[in-house]
Amino acid sequence: LFHQPQIDIDKNAVDGSEVLLRWKHKYYGFIAPEIFIKLAEDTGIINELTLWVVSKACCDLEEIINLGYTDYNVSINISGKDISEPSFLTNIKKIISQYDIPLSSLTFELTESVMVNDFNHLSQIMNELASMGIHVAIDDYGTGYSSLLYISQLPFHELKIDKSFVMNLENSERDLTIVRTTIEMAKNLGLKIVAEGIESKAIEAILKRHGCSIAQGYYYQKPISFKQYLLWLIKYQVKE
Ligand code: C2E
Ligand code: CA
Ligand code: CA
Repeated sequence: LFHQPQIDIDKNAVDGSEVLLRWKHKYYGFIAPEIFIKLAEDTGIINELTLWVVSKACCDLEEIINLGYTDYNVSINISGKDISEPSFLTNIKKIISQYDIPLSSLTFELTESVMVNDFNHLSQIMNELASMGIHVAIDDYGTGYSSLLYISQLPFHELKIDKSFVMNLENSERDLTIVRTTIEMAKNLGLKIVAEGIESKAIEAILKRHGCSIAQGYYYQKPISFKQYLLWLIKYQVKE
């Protein structure tokens, strides 16, 4: 389970990290997450896999907090198949109770594809997560069937702009308009706004100018193993 930092570009500080799975196969080497996540969903092992990810993420978070990063957020990708699993919440509660972490330091990232299914069920799960203090983000915003109705009626805490809109910001007036108005909407709704796919100082500057304060991308750091990440984190602080 790798970590990629999310940077508060106003404060020039690490806000937290997103955890991303990696699978190195004996013969085929690294396999893209898009491929093995789909495989895990199709073969029915995704629920078990997600629970392992949540458990490892909590364990990593506990270690980061113990290093003195008391206000640190870990973001975890949750599959639509997890939401529809009846014992999902019970299992999550069991896992997180084993760690000494504030639940408001966890963010579950859900893609818009989760939202086209059963509204009532999703609403129930999200309300329960909210009452536990866990934050929920809309991941890959703008790439799926974004329903403003869902955004207005469900207790989301964060909106994450997909990299496909961010990477072309310098050359595309249209993408700039979409990103600018998304930031404005999120802010007016009181949502935290995070942009992914920042690969240059110039893109960072554009986002900053339009009021997006949290950024994630290769410009800061590619996803790396937790061991490497801890070293990076300590160095980043020293650099400041
Ligand atoms: P995602 O949730 O949109 O994650 C962000 C992806 O963008 C990651 O790809 C990350 O490495 C990549 N990325 C970040 N910054 C940059 C950048 O500046 N430039 C470019 N070109 N790419 C950047 P990754 O790690 O290959 O993951 C792909 C997708 O696989 C994720 O997309 C997510 O949907 C899924 N995935 C990964 N780990 C998990 C997991 O633990 N559980 C679930 N359910 N899905 C996961
Ligand atoms: Ca994500
Ligand atoms: Ca994305």
